[in-house]
Amino acid sequence: MSSTVAMPPRAVIEHLVRQIVYRRLGKPLPKPAAAPHPLVVNISARHCHLTQAAVEALFGKGHQLTPKKMLYQDGQFAAEETITLIGPRSRVISNLRILGPCRSLNQVELAYTDAIALGFEIPMRLSGSIEGTPGAMLMGPAGFFEMKQGVIRAERHLHMHPDDAAYYGVKKGDYLKLKIGGPCGLTLERILARVDPSFKLELHIDTDEGNACNLQSDTPCELIV
Ligand SMILES: [Zn+2]
Repeated sequence: MSSTVAMPPRAVIEHLVRQIVYRRLGKPLPKPAAAPHPLVVNISARHCHLTQAAVEALFGKGHQLTPKKMLYQDGQFAAEETITLIGPRSRVISNLRILGPCRSLNQVELAYTDAIALGFEIPMRLSGSIEGTPGAMLMGPAGFFEMKQGVIRAERHLHMHPDDAAYYGVKKGDYLKLKIGGPCGLTLERILARVDPSFKLELHIDTDEGNACNLQSDTPCELIV
């Protein structure tokens, strides 16, 4: 029988080594540079992204999405408009929120609990990577729109500005962990780093993940690199 010894994370080892080196030199430990942006952790409830053509099929020719609430990422908004999603067994999710602005592909992001209620099996995918995923029928006040594919569970991810990535020492495509405190605390593994100059530091999990740890606005969260 083999056994493994859990090693502390690299950042912890580096910190310990630094402590020893500075103690030998008789110098105080330098304070780490402040993070460029505070960490924001948000729950993405089920929603969809649509093309302008899909919006027009569902809401009428020339229809433009109306922003209801601006989201944390610049330019992104929750629209006033919602649709009804009809799953493969004719079970429905009504009031599915559209997030704008319109995109070049149609995508529905559900939690696994939503998918089970609908009778779907959906894969976990990075947003935008929808090849071979199941489709669904969408219904709006002006008509139907058949999505051939695009129903996914979004892979948990961290939006990072390049300054944030440099501060945390990660690059696009790396995986991090998030330690969530509180009475239902847990650690989420495999959080994908997405780095872009247009991004603000924000971690997105879905409702299943958020409810599992009862994430509230004051729940302590710590990124582990
Ligand atoms: Zn996101």
